[in-house]
Amino acid sequence: MTPLRPGEAHPESSDPLLLTPGPLTTSKSVKEAMLHDWGSRDPNFIAINRRLLGALPRIAGGAEDYVAVPMQGSGTFAVEAMLTTFVPPSGHVLVLVNGAYGNRACRILGIAGRRITVHETPEDTPPDLVAIGRLLQSVPDITHVFAVHCETTSGILNPIEQLAALVSSHRRRLLVDAMSSFGALPLDAAALGLDAAAASSNKCLEGVPGLGFVICRREALAASRGNATTLVLDLFDQWQAMEATSQFRFTPPTHVIAAFHQALEEFDAEGGVAGRGVRYKENCRILVEGMRALGFRTLLPNALQAPIIVTFHMPKQPGFVFQRFYDGLKERGFIIYPGKLTVADSFRIGCIGRLYPKDMRAAIKAAGEVLEEMGLAVPLPRAA
Ligand SMILES: *Cc1c(COP(=O)(O)O)cnc(C)c1O
Repeated sequence: MTPLRPGEAHPESSDPLLLTPGPLTTSKSVKEAMLHDWGSRDPNFIAINRRLLGALPRIAGGAEDYVAVPMQGSGTFAVEAMLTTFVPPSGHVLVLVNGAYGNRACRILGIAGRRITVHETPEDTPPDLVAIGRLLQSVPDITHVFAVHCETTSGILNPIEQLAALVSSHRRRLLVDAMSSFGALPLDAAALGLDAAAASSNKCLEGVPGLGFVICRREALAASRGNATTLVLDLFDQWQAMEATSQFRFTPPTHVIAAFHQALEEFDAEGGVAGRGVRYKENCRILVEGMRALGFRTLLPNALQAPIIVTFHMPKQPGFVFQRFYDGLKERGFIIYPGKLTVADSFRIGCIGRLYPKDMRAAIKAAGEVLEEMGLAVPLPRAA
């Protein structure tokens, strides 16, 4: 199956493009990889799964002492598996919160009965490294720190390198939700000294949804035996089964894995993290500049903006009705996303998935048309 080359015409003219945080637009060839049924013990399927799991740690820097453990389900299943496998019941996690995914980690840990301390900053503000250093100093029984790389709630890029350096200088373990950045932004697990990072098949790696995975430091994973408080989310157990039999403990999402394998071939053909990062940065630049030219304002300054998803302030003009804006864009083939911020009324437009600069330009053109259709001045007047 020949991988699509970046810049090729979009093959899905009939499906709207998903300018969302996921699920995302995938290539036709990724979807076509699902046109077969595999038995979970089929040697071909096992070989596909092996190659897939071998490729994932390479995306995280490729150090020998890291392994990828898959987890059936959406990304949150992998995050919950990571937190409840790596943090022992006696552990204490400093959770860095500046959006919904940090809050979700708090809920996961609370339900699992793990102690937490929360360091929260507003959704448009990175964590405060000085305050975190002070906390790690003054609360000696904190065992782990949990951080979100790109907080998809706002699209903010959290300073993972500085955080990692701080956490290791205080000799604590770092667990990262790298869901929306993995594959598009560099994440060198060994250089950062991570114990684990969770991601999934359907964000920047452009597979279909249904498989999460955790990049695990082998030694930390080996030491996690007995930590898990559920059977299905026990990464240690999943890893042991994979090592021993190359098989999942429970029914694997065979079609998702076949599609993910194809998606990784296309990822390599695009030049891996560097190549994909370039396309997404260009998508993001076109989106931000185009929307600003139409009079929209971004929540974040460029320096804090990850090239993943962009949050825009809701225009204040009485004539601007978000539902009409959304519907008008949908009619033109673009699905955008409502905001879920507490700091501002907003909406979001994503730039990841099988989207190219020409798609972003078309989306901007469509946004301008919809504003005119709503009878608004374009660009929107400055006060908006
Ligand atoms: C998408 C995402 C997740 C996982 O969400 P699911 O809906 O469970 O796939 C977790 N963290 C971040 C930062 C995300 O962007």
